[in-house]
Amino acid sequence: MLFSYELLGRLFVYLAVAVFLITAMVLLLGAYSFRKHKIIFPNFILFMLYLFYSPAKWICRVFFIKEDIVDEILIEIRNAVMLDKFKKTKERRAVILPQCMRSPKCRARCDPILGYECTKCGMCDIARIVEAADKYNFKVFVVPGDSFVRKILKSYNPGACLGVACYVELTESMQAVSKYMPVQGVCLIKDGCYDTKVDVDEVISKMEMCDV
Ligand code: SF4
Repeated sequence: MLFSYELLGRLFVYLAVAVFLITAMVLLLGAYSFRKHKIIFPNFILFMLYLFYSPAKWICRVFFIKEDIVDEILIEIRNAVMLDKFKKTKERRAVILPQCMRSPKCRARCDPILGYECTKCGMCDIARIVEAADKYNFKVFVVPGDSFVRKILKSYNPGACLGVACYVELTESMQAVSKYMPVQGVCLIKDGCYDTKVDVDEVISKMEMCDV
C-alpha cells in the first residue's frame, strides 16, 4: 500500500511538472505571437491556454508578469483567427457593449431583451460607436450582463459579433460565442463597474474593415 501511495505521489509530481512546462511553453509561444504579430499554431495555443488558463495565470503571478497577458494573448489570437470570416459577414452584424460604459447621467431606457436603447445624447462614447455602427451596418447592444448577451444571441441571431469588455469577461465570452459565429474583441482601457472606457477608434476601425 505504501508503495502505491509513493507511486501516486510521484505521478502527481510528474504531472504537475508536465503541466507547468507545457503551460510555460505555450505562454512563451503565445507571447511571441502576440508581440511579433506573427501567429504560430493559433488553434493549439488557444486550446492549451484555455485548458491551462488557471496554471498560466499562476505562472505569471510567480514570475511577476502581469496576469492580463494571458487574456491579451487569447483575445488577440482569436481576433487574428476569425478576422477574415468576420470581415466577410454582411448580415446581422452586432456590437455588444457593456452598460458600464454609459455616462452616470445616462437616461436611456432598458429594454428587457435588447438592453439599453442609446439615444445618442453624446454624454458618453457610446454615441460615437452607435453613429459609426449605423454607417457600417452594425447594430449596437448595450447590455447589463451575460444574461442579456444570451437573449440577444437568441432574438437577434447575429451573423458576426464585435464585443467590448474587460479582459476576463472578453476572454470567456469570445470563447463561448465563437462556437456560433465569427467574433472580434476589443478590451476596455479603463475597466471597473462604472464609467469605463474603450479605445473608440479601435472599435470603429474593426467595423470599418468589414465589407459594407
Ligand atoms: S450616449 Fe447613449 S449610452 Fe451614452 S449617456 Fe447618452 S443615451 Fe446613454
